[in-house]
Amino acid sequence: MKVPILLPNIFNYPFTYESDLNLKVGDYVVVPFGKFEITGVVWDEFEKKNNKNFKVKRVLKKLNVTPLKRTTIKFLNWFSEYNIIPKGMALKLVLLSSNAIEKFPKVAYENFKFDIKDNSIKLSEQQKKSLKKMNISNQKFRVHVLQGITGSGKTMVYFEALKEIINKNFQGLILLPEIGLTGQFEKKFLEFFGFMPAVWHSGISKKKKEIIWSGISNGDIRVIIGARSSLFLPFKKLGLIIVDEEHDQSYKQDEGITYNARDMAISRASFENIPINLITAVPSIETYENIKKGKYTISRIEQRYQNASLPNYEIINLNETKLEKQSWLSKKIVDRVNSHLEKNDQVLFFLNRRGFSPHVLCDKCFNSYSCPNCSVNLVYHKKKNDLLCHYCGFKTPLKRTCVKNGSCEFIFCGPGVERISEEVKKKFSTKKIEIFSSDTMNKKDSRVRLKKIIDNEVQILVGTQLISKGFHFPNLNCIVVVDIDLSSQGHDLRGAEKNLQLYHQLSGRAGRTGKPATVYFQTYNTNIRMISDLTNSNPNIFLDKELEIRRKNKLPPYQRFISLILTGEDEKKLEKEAFYFKNFIEKKIDGKVLGPVSAPIFRLKKKYRIRLLVRGYKSLKLQNSIAKNILDYKFSVGIKLSVDVDPINFN
Ligand code: ADP
Ligand code: ZN
Repeated sequence: MKVPILLPNIFNYPFTYESDLNLKVGDYVVVPFGKFEITGVVWDEFEKKNNKNFKVKRVLKKLNVTPLKRTTIKFLNWFSEYNIIPKGMALKLVLLSSNAIEKFPKVAYENFKFDIKDNSIKLSEQQKKSLKKMNISNQKFRVHVLQGITGSGKTMVYFEALKEIINKNFQGLILLPEIGLTGQFEKKFLEFFGFMPAVWHSGISKKKKEIIWSGISNGDIRVIIGARSSLFLPFKKLGLIIVDEEHDQSYKQDEGITYNARDMAISRASFENIPINLITAVPSIETYENIKKGKYTISRIEQRYQNASLPNYEIINLNETKLEKQSWLSKKIVDRVNSHLEKNDQVLFFLNRRGFSPHVLCDKCFNSYSCPNCSVNLVYHKKKNDLLCHYCGFKTPLKRTCVKNGSCEFIFCGPGVERISEEVKKKFSTKKIEIFSSDTMNKKDSRVRLKKIIDNEVQILVGTQLISKGFHFPNLNCIVVVDIDLSSQGHDLRGAEKNLQLYHQLSGRAGRTGKPATVYFQTYNTNIRMISDLTNSNPNIFLDKELEIRRKNKLPPYQRFISLILTGEDEKKLEKEAFYFKNFIEKKIDGKVLGPVSAPIFRLKKKYRIRLLVRGYKSLKLQNSIAKNILDYKFSVGIKLSVDVDPINFN
């Protein structure tokens, strides 16, 4: 018999093979392809075009793996259409390095045995209400949003829901932003359930991944806590998806295969016909709109668990207190911090900039250090004693012959966390200080460092936005936003939303144990919108305003945006091509094409970048018309197109 087999490669359709193995849709098989033997899956439909010219080859063998569910196959077909990604590449997201993993003996899954133990947690009245409103018991697709500030007990509510699902013999998936998978969450899980969940993210070893993959596919593993890629695991009997911190922008994968894991989780839940819960303190604008339309149900937890307090806000007007040269901390803030330290509070100085200084130039020749591969400045990292490109990783030591004479003499413009921490060390010399950024925390010893911070052995933290992601520091009661003016810039329509989310998350770190906590903002501009939006305790006011702006200007979530980014090493050729391409697709697609314009970071990793933006109605017709025209268009050699549906970054 003839069978359609999808392979994990760039083709958008299954290939036809011959077999008498009695294969069914979803079976994993090994087939010859060119010179290789590769793993594929029996797909649900043959390719419509008949490629008669090919000699039909035979399936080599069927693998001992639980077949991929039909609902999952339907989801993948839709995923590929929606994101304008070849079907084969969608399948690749399911497989492990393009392979399917055959069953291990039962003992391999021993570590993930799911005996639920009793715990002492009794939900509060509000938590119970929220659980009831979630209404997971009928096991049908619906989206529920659980909104509540950090520390309000949302996790306990969805753990309770998950418990019910596991007890009914289903599997559960908890999606978290990658950075939140630090062990703190696993501990919380273990305390509640009494068994270890399987954890899935890019740092997990290959062997472990194999066990987890097969355990999920044969049902021996019940719960996954994972980053966005775990959404593509071949669950045997998925019963509930939870997207924690649903507003987090890191759910968007915007390199390579681009997709938004939160949105795709919702559609997977819909194809599998199971409930999904979105968890957040402040919903994303898309989610908020769906709540308002009544598409999603919502429950709110208003207070922190046991009434732990919310932080206060204070604005420090930098126009009133003159900063000394090469200093970023006002006298007023130093006084405030000292009084917190006297009370044994932990203090965080927040600045969303890694390294020592973002811009270095020579005092004699005025040449700055910029990246040879990208159109950005290099950032000086003092500890590494290197200048780094944060986009391509290029690095160079701080030493240069000056075009005038001798060596360059450097001026460092502006601070990063390293520089702020130097000033902090001077001003609070008796205290233990730690920098908290991806340069210091992604290391092997980060667990040890984290523990020290949690145990209050470190009195002062200097951190980037990394710290806003789901960490729980019990003594943190003072947050100083060193320069809020710095973060109110950015080149995208989501700037306001991003900032609100960032500072909301940040504030959520403070005052977790009931002591009074304060967030201080240093600023030259005391009436920036962000501060009033943030300090307003009801985030819906901001979201309503923002939605109105989006509606008026025909922006997402009211219309669909699709970015088409052309890249190439030859600037002139690229510019020409962008115009040709625009002309070619303009009249043939179901939307309006804006651009071409140079991308804000015009050159990245040695390639120039030009963007087109397509705007249209929210219908798959738009994607389909683009996909067809991309296929019909012949790009010149050396020019590459990447597509980003629902873009978040406009770099
Ligand atoms: P969120 O997910 O909203 O940040 P959590 O669910 O993590 O909040 O709860 C915050 C803290 O309060 C946790 O330490 C948790 O153990 C505790 N907590 C929440 N609800 C309860 C409860 N019903 N009984 C006991 N402790 C609770
Ligand atoms: Zn670079």
